[in-house]
Amino acid sequence: MRVLVVEDERDLAQTLRRALEEEEFAVDLAEDGEEGLFKIRELSYDAVILDLMLPRLDGWGVLQAARGAGIRTPVLVLTARDTIDERVRGLNLGADDYLTKPFALVELVARVRAMIRRVYGNPASTVQLGEITIDTAARQVWRAGTPVELTAREFAILELLTRSRGAVVARSTICEHIYDEDTDVLSNVVDVHVAALRRKLGPDVIRTRRGEGYIVDG
Ligand code: CA
Repeated sequence: MRVLVVEDERDLAQTLRRALEEEEFAVDLAEDGEEGLFKIRELSYDAVILDLMLPRLDGWGVLQAARGAGIRTPVLVLTARDTIDERVRGLNLGADDYLTKPFALVELVARVRAMIRRVYGNPASTVQLGEITIDTAARQVWRAGTPVELTAREFAILELLTRSRGAVVARSTICEHIYDEDTDVLSNVVDVHVAALRRKLGPDVIRTRRGEGYIVDG
């Protein structure tokens, strides 16, 4: 999954990037509100972590413009002040969750994961696909009760396809969700990962739609 961090304090931004990358997210950074809004409009992120006090355009402005443009990407707002006014204002503008600075990184990661599950309509962390069980919180997969070892990219692809069950997901969309902006991606890389997933999970879990992409049946 790919996350955008909009934060002008560089030390904090780098700390967040490292913590999220350790949890196998692809992470992009934006240093001000205008850059953040540009990236939110141009790229399909799974979640945005948005500081409120930002140069050029503050977090409220980013949120208002993104929601006004019909972009539904889940947004977790970081705020220095924890007041009811700020919470209400953020919720009215379309924030999905809140965290008050300073916060524990482990809580931030847990909240981002929970927000993504909630917004994409699967509040439980465990998903069943035939004989395959996926725990998106613990990042574990079982096939007929036996643990399956997946790489971070393989897990990310399986998670994305599962979230989009019943719909075809294009290779380009898969790339956007699993790689950050600094990674050069070979054109067949998704096919290579899917081939590995099929070896581990069985041939029928992920199906190919020729010329369109991949699908997990809903
Ligand atoms: Ca700030």
